[in-house]
Amino acid sequence: MKIVNTPEEVRKQVALWKKEGFSVGLVPTMGFLHEGHGSLIKKASEENDKVVVSVFVNPIQFGPSEDLASYPRDLKHDTELVSECGGDMIFSPSPSDMYCEDFCSFVDVENLTSGLCGAKRPGHFRGVCTVVTKLFNIVQPERAYFGQKDAQQLAVIKRMVRDLNVPVTIVPCPIVREADGLAKSSRNTYLSSEERKAAVILNKSLKKGLAALTSGERNAEVVKNIIKDTLNSEPLAKIDYVEIVDSSALAPVTNINSSILTAIAVYIGKTRLIDNFTFNL
Ligand code: AMP
Repeated sequence: MKIVNTPEEVRKQVALWKKEGFSVGLVPTMGFLHEGHGSLIKKASEENDKVVVSVFVNPIQFGPSEDLASYPRDLKHDTELVSECGGDMIFSPSPSDMYCEDFCSFVDVENLTSGLCGAKRPGHFRGVCTVVTKLFNIVQPERAYFGQKDAQQLAVIKRMVRDLNVPVTIVPCPIVREADGLAKSSRNTYLSSEERKAAVILNKSLKKGLAALTSGERNAEVVKNIIKDTLNSEPLAKIDYVEIVDSSALAPVTNINSSILTAIAVYIGKTRLIDNFTFNL
């Protein structure tokens, strides 16, 4: 398994693969990989001859008060996991490999980024769309794999690819969870043992919301309140947002009569966690 640091090295290797007629899949990540990332890499290796996993903590998607400096990193463990899951190459650039000093070109997706995490993290999706566009241009994959865990990111990337005619197929992958239901996340490592126990409230609250929908509730406010009440029952949880939006435009809905995304962001102590489910009518 190869680890390369520069866009030029990636291009060289991918060109050789393409010359041999191999298809290429890309899995963009920020590293500190877990089974959630592993599921994307495994799917990519089933569907492509070669798989590139990018490991890059992208500075331009972090706000000034966010956790860029403390974001967990462990390239040795990442290398083992990528190899076990069938990846062929890790692309692990430094910030200066990706952004030259006078870098000034960005990709902005409007509308879909105005709510949910986009409202709480100004500039986040501009940073995500810019780095993902760069990765698409560097790797030129046939397919790229994204987790439903970051549901807004997935919807935004799909829209960007459609709007800008990017020649790549976006493959969505289901959320991988811990045994108690907490969605796996690199940020779970920030949680103390007490906070880790409290964090199951995210999934518990969503399950209650889903149960209400399944038994016929169609008023979004009622469903959101069920979720909020459950979250508020946990003293360590502080709600950032609880939203119900339509799955493709991500616009808030009041009456649920189409496919919807229920998405939440919750602070457990200082750690901000997200989770969601989709409900298709
Ligand atoms: P990250 O390293 O957090 O930027 O995540 C890289 C990719 O892995 C994104 O497409 C995420 O949605 C996906 N991912 C992260 N956690 C999970 C999970 N628990 N289940 C499925 N996909 C995940």
